[in-house]
Amino acid sequence: MKKTLAARLEILSDAAKYDASCASSGVSSKKKPGEEGLGSKASNGICHAYTPDGRCISLLKILMTNFCIYDCAYCINRSSSKIERTRFSVEEIIWITLEFYRRNYIEGLFLSSGVIRSSDYTMEEMVRVARELRLKHHFHGYIHLKTIPDAAPHLIEEAGLYADRLSINVEMPTDDGLAAYAPEKDAGHIRQSMGALRLKIEESGDRSLTGRKPRRFAPGAEHTNDYRG
Ligand code: SF4
Repeated sequence: MKKTLAARLEILSDAAKYDASCASSGVSSKKKPGEEGLGSKASNGICHAYTPDGRCISLLKILMTNFCIYDCAYCINRSSSKIERTRFSVEEIIWITLEFYRRNYIEGLFLSSGVIRSSDYTMEEMVRVARELRLKHHFHGYIHLKTIPDAAPHLIEEAGLYADRLSINVEMPTDDGLAAYAPEKDAGHIRQSMGALRLKIEESGDRSLTGRKPRRFAPGAEHTNDYRG
């Protein structure tokens, strides 16, 4: 039987709490009947992050899926881990984000994922979430996408057009560590992806390189409504 949206939200927000990019999710409290006071906190998927201008914002922090074809020894979602697996469709993530936003629970989305089918397929699905939020639903809230290092450069580039922030996991501090604990991953490739991302961010902010208005690319907290690139 297919799990309810709420059950999947519980699993996929819990799975996302290990990502330290914004680690304050997982707190919940509820006013008991008859108890004095005001308000309650829901634990499922709401975390806080600081924008470069110092604002603290609430984000819906979830994984698209906790299925993964890789078996990194340090990760709860590794393929050999005996955990309950589930996934959201692109449409479901968009719906939850818009609903939470309208109810004022969040100001944005932090989306990461296990790798399903291939890096490109996974990244394509994540880009589709951001693209549809921006272009179809005119969502101007904050979007942080965790990129898949092996994904094709054109997908990372498109992600940068819609996301306010992109990040890549360093995974392990040394090449030897990565070889021992995540032998399917390539340290050189991860460094290459980080370098390419950095170049894109620098290019987008440097008018002197092209002489034209810089193309929008993951501008952090800078607010802009121009998602056409
Ligand atoms: S690729 Fe990412 S999600 Fe998959 S096992 Fe490795 S660290 Fe975990």
